[in-house]
Amino acid sequence: MLKRSGWCHGVRYPNSPEDVIVFRCLCCPWPGVNLPHGWELTDPRLSRYLYAAYLGADGNHSLQKKAKKDDPTDRSFAGKRGFFGDIRELPKYKETVSKEQGKIVETCSGFKVTRSQKVGKFRFLDITGVVAVTCTRHGCFWPRAVVDLPGGEQFLLVDLALSGALECLKSLLEWLMTYDVGCSYLKNILVRWKEGKLPHHLEPIVKRLRVLLPQLHMLAHKDSCQTEFAVCYTSGAGHTNGEAVEPLWATHNQAGPSTREMNGGARHDALNDMFSFWNWVKHETMGELPPSRDQPRSDLVQVNISRANSRTSCDCSWTS
Ligand SMILES: [Zn+2]
Ligand SMILES: [Zn+2]
Repeated sequence: MLKRSGWCHGVRYPNSPEDVIVFRCLCCPWPGVNLPHGWELTDPRLSRYLYAAYLGADGNHSLQKKAKKDDPTDRSFAGKRGFFGDIRELPKYKETVSKEQGKIVETCSGFKVTRSQKVGKFRFLDITGVVAVTCTRHGCFWPRAVVDLPGGEQFLLVDLALSGALECLKSLLEWLMTYDVGCSYLKNILVRWKEGKLPHHLEPIVKRLRVLLPQLHMLAHKDSCQTEFAVCYTSGAGHTNGEAVEPLWATHNQAGPSTREMNGGARHDALNDMFSFWNWVKHETMGELPPSRDQPRSDLVQVNISRANSRTSCDCSWTS
C-alpha cells in the first residue's frame, strides 16, 4: 500500500491531502498532476466538463462487523490516512449511533435505503455495512471516503464520506455526484453539514455540488425526479450512467464473511489493503480493454481523429 501510493519512495502530490498512504485514482482531473496549463480558464459552456469531478455514493450492507467481545482499543494502523473516515469525529457520535440503529431512510417514492430485506438481518452486528463515495468515471475508491454504518444508511454519514472525497477534489471547479436517493439527500445538506461540524472550507463546494440519480435507480423515483435529477438531461454529464459504484461492491462483498469476524482495527486494515489493491489493478488494466473488442485499437484512434476533425469543421452551435 505504501509502495503503490508512492509514500515510501518519497513521492508527494500537490492538491491532495499529504498524509494519505493509499493509492487513489490518477485518471480523475488533478491540478498539478494531469491537467493542462490554463485548464481553469476553459469556457464553462464548452469544455469545462472535462475537468469536473464525477462522484458516486452508495451504501453496502455486506461489509459488516459482528458484535462480539473484542479489543475496543484495536485501531487501524492507517488511521485517517487510509480509506476510512472517522465517525467518532461527528459531534454527537454516540447519540447518532443509538438513534440510527435499524432506522430506515425512505425516498420520494418509498424506495428504502437501508433495504432491510429481512427482519433481523442486522442483529448481532456492531457495523451493519459501509457507505462510500467513489469515482464514478473509473470506479475507484477515494481516500477517507468510506464510512462505517452503525445502523442505517444515514445522510450525515454520507456527508462525512463526501467530505473525505472533496478534500482530494477541492481544487477543481465543478463537482457532480450520483446517489440512488439523491433527491432526498439534497434536502438540508447544508444544515447537516453545519450540525455535523464537517470541514467549513468545503461548504462552498457543497453548495455548488450537483446531486443526481443513477440511471437505473432513477426508475424507482417519481416522474418529477426522473426529469429534475436525470444525468442525461444534465449539462456536461454526457453518457455517465452513475452506477459505477455497484461493480465495486460486487467484488468486495466477497470480503464480508471474513472481515466481519475481525476486530475493528484489523478489519479496517484488511479493507484498506483491498480497496487500495482494487484501485491499483484498475489502473494496471483499464488501458488494455479497447471500447470495442471487434475493432483493433489503432482503427479506433483513426475513427476518433476523423470524428474530431469533423466536429471542428462543423458550424452548429453545440455546447456541453
Ligand atoms: Zn477516477
Ligand atoms: Zn426522488
